[in-house]
Amino acid sequence: MPVTVVGGGLAGCEAAWQLARAGVPVTLIEMRPHRATPAHRTGDLAELVCSNSLRGDDPLFNAVGLLHEEMRRAGSLILTAAEATKVPAGGALAVDRAGFSQVIAQALEAHPAVRIERAEVTELPPGPAIIATGPLTADPLAQAIQAVTGAESLAFFDAIAPIVHRDSIDFEKAWFQSRYDKGDGRDYINCGLSREQYDAFVDALLEAAVTPTREWEGTPYFDGCLPIEVMAARGRETLAFGPMKPVGLRDPRAPEQRLHAVVQLRQDNTLGTLYNIVGFQTRLRHAEQVAVLRLIPGLEHAEFARLGGMHRNTFLNGPLVLDGRLRLKTRPDLRFAGQITGCEGYVESAAIGLLAGRFAAAEALGLDLALPPATTALGALLGHVTGGADAETFQPMNINFGLFPPLDPVIARPGAKPRVPKGRERKLGVSRRALTDLAGWLEAPGPWAEDDTPRAR
Ligand code: FAD
Repeated sequence: MPVTVVGGGLAGCEAAWQLARAGVPVTLIEMRPHRATPAHRTGDLAELVCSNSLRGDDPLFNAVGLLHEEMRRAGSLILTAAEATKVPAGGALAVDRAGFSQVIAQALEAHPAVRIERAEVTELPPGPAIIATGPLTADPLAQAIQAVTGAESLAFFDAIAPIVHRDSIDFEKAWFQSRYDKGDGRDYINCGLSREQYDAFVDALLEAAVTPTREWEGTPYFDGCLPIEVMAARGRETLAFGPMKPVGLRDPRAPEQRLHAVVQLRQDNTLGTLYNIVGFQTRLRHAEQVAVLRLIPGLEHAEFARLGGMHRNTFLNGPLVLDGRLRLKTRPDLRFAGQITGCEGYVESAAIGLLAGRFAAAEALGLDLALPPATTALGALLGHVTGGADAETFQPMNINFGLFPPLDPVIARPGAKPRVPKGRERKLGVSRRALTDLAGWLEAPGPWAEDDTPRAR
């Protein structure tokens, strides 16, 4: 029985390819060019809607570069097409966008197991199926998905707060405490501001530029998630009575000090390596955002796993509604793939497509396919969208080193104290471990021949 893949974007094309390579018949349904989205410009498969870059390509010191490398080793069509059409871009993997789509279309059209259909899908298809309709899923299908996943599960509006790597926070200034000492005391990281520090922060916020609005972003702000710059513009003290309110919080090292405001950060992943800044959704331009946020005491050297932003987005609350193999818990014959699962970015969407395709193929062939190890980029990303993140605050995310389990401490020389690698040493250790562990996963018996990747014409 063929597997239906809805959406011929990055995830859908990759999923269809992995199914076809395993010998499983697949019907790929794409609605363009009959029906457009607000961002796509052509009827091409795997159209890159904005930048032509698949970002950094260094497999050892860059998390997305590591994901590239893992996908290459897993026979990814998207990565093969990128290699075949790459244009000079320093350390990044950028492509000729028309050529990129063409290589993908040719490979799929030429494959005997693939049938491509051009039509809008308005209802959930019968299974087995993979839904890969992306952040701009057409409305009728989005409503059908919402009906089956529940109103809370399909977000249509993306208000993103920045996420900080915990090991870049200065704990000489920041401290752990829950408001009014509720909870176990380690639920929040707090950064206190004096009156002067608050005034300087608000001044910088009001002066900073926001990213321009795209025509398709007509969604109004919800009062419950206003960007911080909009709140500050409504009144100088609005933030001090809103997301920066200091009540119930005191720096234990200076309990007599009167704090005018406190910024709270909440754990964002199970590993506790990432923290989001609570209530700090913002549309500030990225460079200005970093400069403004680094004015907060304790965040002077903050490194960001993701910066804030607001745009229309359709994504599931993956940790709530998907199982570990990307199946809808309430309808396991349906899988989801791509940005709709709550990952962010071209490469990440394609990576989740690769996994969805492999899981669906294994199922169709009656094979047992293990999950990729959590120490690999594929496994870390899958973990984020299917369970590693907190369902209550779940937001789309790019692959980053904060999603990987920590490294074991190393002993540099006999008698020295064990030390957890940091900085570049940590990235190198995580990447090497990932590639070793991936090899074990790829070597497991399966239907994927590694010699049939398409060649550019
Ligand atoms: P898509 O690539 O969007 O593919 C989904 C496909 O499903 C589309 O072809 C669509 O036409 C089709 N479809 C939708 N509904 C239906 C239906 N009912 N029936 C049949 N077909 C349907 N990421 C980056 O890394 N870099 C960027 O520069 C970047 N810019 C972005 C700009 C915008 C405006 C948006 C919205 C997102 C951007 N992203 C970017 C994020 C994301 O990486 C891309 O959206 C990416 O294309 C997602 O891949 P996908 O396969 O999940 O969805």
